[in-house]
Amino acid sequence: MLVAQPREGVGVGVELTGIEPVTSCLQSRRSSQLSYSPVTVRIPVRPAATAPRRALGVASLRRRWQDQTMESRALKTNSMDDFDLRMSEESRPFFDAVVEFLETVVDPMQAEFFQAGEGRADRWSYTERQLELLEGAKDQAKAKGLWNFFLPDTGQGLSNLDYAYLAVELGKYPLGSESLNCSAPDTGNMEVLERVGTPEQKQQWLEPLLNGEIRSCFGMTEPGVASSDAKNVRCQAVRDGDEYVINGEKYYISGAGDPRCKIMILMCQTSPDGPPHRRQSQILVPMDAPGLEILGPMHVFGQDDAPHGHMHLRLTDVRVPAGNMLWGEGRGFEISQLRLGPGRIHHCMRGIGAAEKALDLMCRRGLTREAFGKPLARLGGNTEIIARARTEIEAMRMMVLRAAKAMDTLGNTEARVWISAVKAMVPERVCNIIDQAIQMHGATGVSQWTPLAGMYQSQRTLRLADGPDEVHWMVVGRSELASYEGLEVPASPTSAATGLGGSGS
Ligand SMILES: Cc1cc2nc3c(=O)[nH]c(=O)nc-3n(C[C@H](O)[C@H](O)[C@H](O)COP(=O)(O)OP(=O)(O)OC[C@H]3O[C@@H](n4cnc5c(N)ncnc54)[C@H](O)[C@@H]3O)c2cc1C
Repeated sequence: MLVAQPREGVGVGVELTGIEPVTSCLQSRRSSQLSYSPVTVRIPVRPAATAPRRALGVASLRRRWQDQTMESRALKTNSMDDFDLRMSEESRPFFDAVVEFLETVVDPMQAEFFQAGEGRADRWSYTERQLELLEGAKDQAKAKGLWNFFLPDTGQGLSNLDYAYLAVELGKYPLGSESLNCSAPDTGNMEVLERVGTPEQKQQWLEPLLNGEIRSCFGMTEPGVASSDAKNVRCQAVRDGDEYVINGEKYYISGAGDPRCKIMILMCQTSPDGPPHRRQSQILVPMDAPGLEILGPMHVFGQDDAPHGHMHLRLTDVRVPAGNMLWGEGRGFEISQLRLGPGRIHHCMRGIGAAEKALDLMCRRGLTREAFGKPLARLGGNTEIIARARTEIEAMRMMVLRAAKAMDTLGNTEARVWISAVKAMVPERVCNIIDQAIQMHGATGVSQWTPLAGMYQSQRTLRLADGPDEVHWMVVGRSELASYEGLEVPASPTSAATGLGGSGS
């Protein structure tokens, strides 16, 4: 979940002296002549900002605005280097190997996998044949070294930028991520354990996760409180000797229905009276802990998504060893920053893969089916719909790659505005593209004969999961406005201020 943290380096008051007319004047509306009167507007500094005022000329002011790029958590471009978004040379052979594996092993396997699960007696389990197929693909991936590459240290040492290219490919196959042990929420959980886990925690939970022997879930959202603000979390963990006693209720806990899910990272309150951002902790709760009940699956558009599931859980006097606390009490928000950065943009990258798939299906259908004497793709506004989908996919790709690069160069916390920007932008647009692909398919678009309905459902939920769109737009908007705080700037652009002439220019 999002963490509102005080920003540094913003809200610095600036005194404009020696202002050049070009930026300091407003055009008078009372006269037909151009007359300039110095009018400046001071944008209030937020109370937290106490930095001394400095005198800046126009050139340095412009530089200052330009400087507020990746380095200061804003969403701006400063240097052409920001646009160097190429995959590294070392990663290219690896990328090719993953693509080949997805095409030759995962794609044929997943069709049989889903067929083998149809009509099984217990919906909350896998059939033997399903596990055989999946484990077979995982063994092959491991043997080829195409395994755990989401982890910078334990995996292939890929940068976020290199990983972005791979995640787009993974997004094209429902079982792509799991076959290569790169699926959520395990990736986020493994990354947390790797970074902040004790040696004991790593041995007990990280190792089997890295080996693909177990799965995991992350429990934060609660039915009783608005959980997009993680400060609201009410589930309590109280220290009692060498243990914590946990009571609370969680829902929409993805993956908790999977019989292979053995461990949950739980967000809970440990210091209800502490400072708001130190009240929460994250703690490891085994799924078989006495007192932990799975009340049932929450539905997503009427589907229970078995056996993965988005489960409703109740914890009643659940006791776990004190050693299960991650990184110490009160550090829940800090851990969230670590886990959600990569997780969020991995979703976005896979979303772009899904949009590519939808566009591909839309084009094929549109060119091979006719109505009113023409292929569907050439009727009405359909060619433009296809053009817009392609354009948006490329725009999203650039944004996601830039967010990945920001994470590589700045770290997850500093890059959070970029992460929020893509998290807000991508699922919404991918949903639109899938929706249009559904429309081009007519009734078949919502049927079981294409993957489109499932893809739409999954992308639509991403507009809520890991923070609803609005919260991410809020982060981006606040950052944009923060760069104006304390500045004295022209209240509105004028022809003089913009350097543009009047008519005819
Ligand atoms: C399929 C699926 C899987 C999920 N998996 C998990 C999981 O594994 N683990 C887990 O812990 N949770 C999971 N979630 C829950 C998800 O993270 C939450 O739904 C999300 O954080 C929002 O919390 P909420 O539902 O309590 O909405 P609320 O906090 O009640 O917000 C409701 C709405 O209020 C509006 N809103 C909120 N804040 C703002 C703002 N700042 N500005 C403007 N409007 C705002 C938004 O429109 C928002 O959608 C999952 C959800 C779904 C649908």
